[in-house]
Amino acid sequence: MTASAPVGHNRPSDFPVILPVYKRSTIRMVRGEGVYLFDEEGRQYLDFAAGIAVNSLGHCHPHLVKALQEQAATLWHTSNLYTSSAQEKLAARLVEQTCADSVFFCSTGLEASECAIKMVRKYFDEKGEPEKYRIITLEGSFHGRSIATISAAGKEKLTKGFAPLLDGFDQVPMGDIQALRAKITPFTAAIMLEPILGEGGVIPCPPEYLRELRAIADAFGLLLVFDEVQCGYGRPGALFYHQMVGVEPDIITAAKGIGSGFPLAACLAKKHVAEIMTPGSHGSTYGGNPLAMAVGNAVLDVILKPGFFEHVQARGKELYEGLEALVKKYPKLLAEARGVGLMLGLKTVIPNMDVVVALREQGLLTVLADDNVIRILPPLIIEKAHIAEALDKIEVALQRLGGAA
Ligand SMILES: *Cc1c(COP(=O)(O)O)cnc(C)c1O
Repeated sequence: MTASAPVGHNRPSDFPVILPVYKRSTIRMVRGEGVYLFDEEGRQYLDFAAGIAVNSLGHCHPHLVKALQEQAATLWHTSNLYTSSAQEKLAARLVEQTCADSVFFCSTGLEASECAIKMVRKYFDEKGEPEKYRIITLEGSFHGRSIATISAAGKEKLTKGFAPLLDGFDQVPMGDIQALRAKITPFTAAIMLEPILGEGGVIPCPPEYLRELRAIADAFGLLLVFDEVQCGYGRPGALFYHQMVGVEPDIITAAKGIGSGFPLAACLAKKHVAEIMTPGSHGSTYGGNPLAMAVGNAVLDVILKPGFFEHVQARGKELYEGLEALVKKYPKLLAEARGVGLMLGLKTVIPNMDVVVALREQGLLTVLADDNVIRILPPLIIEKAHIAEALDKIEVALQRLGGAA
């Protein structure tokens, strides 16, 4: 018998085995503890990137580790063909805490966005108005990387090379009510937006603008969808940002912080929308999987403890004030501090990448965003000392970048 040739033996050895869709740092992280990450050489990093707003409770939070370990030894996966007490528990807690009445669990932010888009379309189809399918979105927004969600965002950086895009999205500039009204036609079904734009550069929508969008949606019979995948789940200093503003959407999407690092997402809807989704109309093999539910419930145990959101607001205020002071002190390098709670951004004067690299060299992790912004998204559990440490590191980095002290 001859052995068959190993599959792929002719592949070019210098070609990456990982699809080259990311420009990665060469740092290899091997361990996380609280707000710190450690690389293979033992270097310690203060993680103010939190896996892009994901590790809301930092790394290896003992309560989450325990919940996951216990669940891992009990039951991993059953599919959604069976009733799940853990899903019912997490969903009941979420509807108790929000304006929503029903929850669909999935695994990633884009799936939550897709669920929202499908619900919008089916809602009007069920109402006998199938011609209403268009969704108004914001320029500079981000809703995920599927064809539908890149079409929703519309920006070339995401869509180039992937035509034909999905029809049915009309982008308008954030804050421009006139432009938005001009886009409303008999085909318009919904307005979908991030109440604080994340990838777009940490740009909070003014509360007044969000209130006007609710009024316009009501006046024209449109659904209002808030994508709080990045800006929600405790990060603004409330479970969701729209709760601080006092505007109720019809549909809310959540992901990122909801599992603090375990893949989990959710699409929450009010009854009038949720009730049109019938058995077979949507689904997910992994969504609401027992492992994800164990972690999701454990995350809520921590962030719903009395005082947690106040902690986020207080730390957010300290960090923001520290950043503002640095902006004043280093005007040739920094242009502006912005954000809400612990969803913060620094608009830089020099290329944002230079600042991210300089900060990383000081052992502080941050994330790039559009609009020449660096995102500062620490775990929500940071303490005062971590903020002082971060501000010190930022100042050292700015001095190395040529800022006069
Ligand atoms: C990250 C993000 C998504 C997509 O989440 P994935 O889990 O990467 O699919 C959608 N919306 C917003 C606002 C995001 O920040």
